[in-house]
Amino acid sequence: MNVILLGPPGAGKGTQAVRIAEKYNVPHISTGDIFRKNIKEQTPIGVVAKSYIDKGQLVPDEVVIEIVRLRLAEEDCKNGYLLDGFPRTVPQAEALDSFTKVETVLNLDIDLDLLMKRLTGRRVCEACGESYHVSFIGDANTCTKCGGTLIQRSDDNEASVNNRLTAYTNQTAPLIAYYKEKGVLCNIAAAGKIDEVFGEIEKALG
Ligand code: ADP
Ligand code: ADP
Ligand code: ZN
Repeated sequence: MNVILLGPPGAGKGTQAVRIAEKYNVPHISTGDIFRKNIKEQTPIGVVAKSYIDKGQLVPDEVVIEIVRLRLAEEDCKNGYLLDGFPRTVPQAEALDSFTKVETVLNLDIDLDLLMKRLTGRRVCEACGESYHVSFIGDANTCTKCGGTLIQRSDDNEASVNNRLTAYTNQTAPLIAYYKEKGVLCNIAAAGKIDEVFGEIEKALG
């Protein structure tokens, strides 16, 4: 099962990815999570990535492509993978096609107007990556799944979100046509409740 989650920032990729990985037993590969881990550990990749991520800009293609190429070569990806947040540009998608066969692209389809609220109210578990929203949890700061601490991402502020939405429109949205033409695109209505969206994904994955 070689699956990609496509969608604008805040569409629910991370939220759904955790559920898909659990049910279908595939590794969840989030390029955003990989960058955040590198930033925390102050690796050379982390230092480069931070300057882009803080501004809400995409990290250069050559950096992210190499990371994903190496990750997909690992043993646990032998029977499939779930990519969350990659590819985000046409050159990334072309590179991916040169080293793996993408079977299904789940396109989380949502009105961009809904996303500012989702992102500025997002809280994420530092330990397991689960996403929460202040409208559901208030000011609770403990993950109900693992007991980890909930934090606000430094790029979930209004200025960075505006740049990320622009980057999505200009650089990532063209991937919808790219994958439609290849016959692997599944549109998933992503404005409903988390369980409803997951139900649609289950139908699409069979
Ligand atoms: P992405 O990984 O696409 O950026 P997340 O999965 O982190 O998005 O979700 C962004 C925010 O929206 C989080 O605060 C999350 O709790 C919330 N969220 C996710 N899915 C839904 C949904 N179906 N309805 C309402 N809020 C949602
Ligand atoms: P979101 O929840 O906004 O969808 P992610 O956690 O997927 O965000 O990514 C956070 C940031 O990491 C992005 O705004 C971007 O700067 C960088 N990033 C993640 N994946 C990629 C990618 N495939 N190409 C370029 N930059 C990326
Ligand atoms: Zn957790």
